Parts: sequence; structure tokens; C-alpha cells
Amino acid sequence: MENKKYRVSFPHIGNYMYPIYNLLDKLIDKETAEIILAPKITTNTIDLGAKASPDFVCVPFKYNMGNFIEALENGANFLIQAGGGCRYGYYGEVQEQILRDMGYEFTYINLLDPEGLKPEKLFKRLKKLNKNLKFSRFVYAFLLTIKSIEILDDFETYMRDNYVYIDKKEEVNKLHLEFLEHLKNLSNLNELYKIKREYFKKLKSLKLNKNKPDVIRVGIVGELYTSMEPFSTFFLEKELANMNVAVKRYTTVTYLLFKKGKALKKLLKSSSKYITYALGADGTESVAHTLELIDKGYDGIIHIKPFGCTPEVNAMPILQKISNEYNIPIMYLTFDAQTSRTGLATRLEAFYDMLKMKKEQKENIKPLEVKNETEIKEKRYINDNNKKEYRLQN
Ligand code: SF4
Repeated sequence: MENKKYRVSFPHIGNYMYPIYNLLDKLIDKETAEIILAPKITTNTIDLGAKASPDFVCVPFKYNMGNFIEALENGANFLIQAGGGCRYGYYGEVQEQILRDMGYEFTYINLLDPEGLKPEKLFKRLKKLNKNLKFSRFVYAFLLTIKSIEILDDFETYMRDNYVYIDKKEEVNKLHLEFLEHLKNLSNLNELYKIKREYFKKLKSLKLNKNKPDVIRVGIVGELYTSMEPFSTFFLEKELANMNVAVKRYTTVTYLLFKKGKALKKLLKSSSKYITYALGADGTESVAHTLELIDKGYDGIIHIKPFGCTPEVNAMPILQKISNEYNIPIMYLTFDAQTSRTGLATRLEAFYDMLKMKKEQKENIKPLEVKNETEIKEKRYINDNNKKEYRLQN
């Protein structure tokens, strides 16, 4: 490996590493800098991160630390953090200090400011990687990245919504991987739009078997890192898809960066029966999106959060109330460095069986033709969802 002056790395979060890699590739001066991708997240990553982090800190901090340590061990000397909002906004300074105390030497920059994304400040920070970087080049690369992320989110949302109905799973997986590789090596917006047309066409041409029996629909709500980094939940969405579950998830980078701010007022309004003020981080979304999923007829909800995540802890009693009032099953999952994969699989299976039984029961009942009060008392079956009265089908 050539020993370049700057060896740049950044923490992983889902598949966003592909557009971020492409952004850095467009911005760095290749004579003096190169990108060192942090190794894929494994249990070693979280073990290293947890060891170097304070016990009480939330789990995304530990994952990021693990990524940084593994990258530094692989030769990185320029670290980029892109956290913002909630405690995440303070990760940067603390992580930098801990890593320096551990004896690592590196340059460290944070892409986001406490107030959010500030392109001019970001440009100044990235100039460290390329002193000849022109603002116009930076703006173009930035725009290309934003558009890539939007398209990536659309692609993966379609996959999540429909994966369970597609019989040719190997084809979807193959298309997905090819698509990601393209996002890592894009030259310009024209190429991006060409890739988008080509791959959406291929993806949507895969036949959807919407009459598939036994499909259960589950919505995932909760904290952002656990929602978007599959390893942190032991690939929860994939596990569910393999169990014949269609998965809906709202949280994406596009949502967080560009839609969340405007959506908050609307979300507070739609959940005003349960909350008056925003719960912080993704807590408001957890409540409002749960109500939306119930409205859309989803069979169950899974609420996910890292251990110690205060906004989601605040959302939980409200979700329990909603669960009781609407008779909708909600499973609460908390993840930390000690979470057992086997324990998770057992809980998922039990949840799936319960949802399936509940759905079958619901399908086997029809509206009651009320004849008299005695019959109501004898054969009444209350469906709490819509408060109509039912009797078991003969
Ligand atoms: S949302 Fe939760 S996990 Fe994320 S930074 Fe805030 S407290 Fe930590």
C-alpha cells in the first residue's frame, strides 16, 4: 500500500457507505490521500467499541468507536464523523478524546454541526483533504451524494415493501448488490439517473406474488441507528423477510435530513391524543408512525432501540397504551453489546406465531347478525380494533 499523507475513514451505517465513499473519492486529492474503508461490522467491532467506551453511553457510540479503532488499526489517520442530533451530536468530541487517550494519532472532522448540515463549513473542513478543492466541485459532488442517497432510499424502501412477495429472491439480492456498486463509482448525475432508470426497471419487472398466503405485515419503529444499521439488530429486517413478513420502516437518511423537520408538526397533530410535545430524537415518529401503521392495517409493530436510548424509553409507555387501546401487538426490542442473537430469534418466532394466529382468528370471524340480547351475551366476540361486534363463523 502506498503511504499517502491522509488515509481517510468513516463509520458505517447501513449501505450509506457506498454514496459516502463516492463523495470522498470525488473530493480528495488522490496524490496525497486515499480512502480506507472500515472493515465490515462484526462482533469484534462492537467488542472493541464497547471496551473503549463508557458503559452508560448508547450503543451507536460503541459501534462508531469500533469502526474507528478497526480503521485506525488498518492504517487510517483521518477520521470523519457525521453524527448530529440528540446525544449523537456530542459523540464526535468524546470519541476523539478517547481515541487520543488510547494513543492513536489522527486528524478528526465532523461533517455535521449541532444546527445541522452547513455546506460552507463542511467545505472548509474537507479542504484539509484537498487544498485545491474548488467550491463548485464540492457542491456538485455533494449534490450527487444527496441524490444518490435519495435514490438508494427509494430502492431499498421498494425492496422492503415487496421482498416478501418476490419469488426470485436471488435476483433481487443480485440487483441490489450491483446497484450499490454503481453508487460507489459514479461520475456524474447523468450516470446516476441512467443507473436509476435501469435498476428500477429491472427491480420492478420482478413479478410480485401478492396472493401469497400467510404473509404477515409488520412495521418497524424506533431509534435511527438501530433502524438503519442492520448488524446492530442482527439483521432484523432480513430475518423477518425470511419468515414471510412484509416489513415497513420509515426512518432513512433522506427522511432524517430532508423531511423530518417539516414532518414534525404534522406528526404531533396526528398523535395529539397521546403526546403534546416532541419526545426528542425519533420518539415522536415512533408514536405517530405506529398510529399510521395501525391505520394501514398492519398486523403488528416492532419497536427497536439501543440500550439507554432516552427518547425511545419515553415513547414506550405511550406505545403500550396505544397497543391496549387498538389491540395491536407491539414487541419491544432493546439492543446492546451483550444482546444474544439466539434470544432474538426465539422472540421473533414467538411474535410471528402470535401474529399469525391472531390473523387467522380474525379471518375466521364475520359480522354478527344481532337477533336478540341473549344471543349477544352468548356469542359475543369483541374486536377492539373497530369496536364492532362479531360472532364466530359456523
Ligand atoms: S436517539 Fe437514543 S441512541 Fe441515538 S443518540 Fe439519542 S439517546 Fe443515543
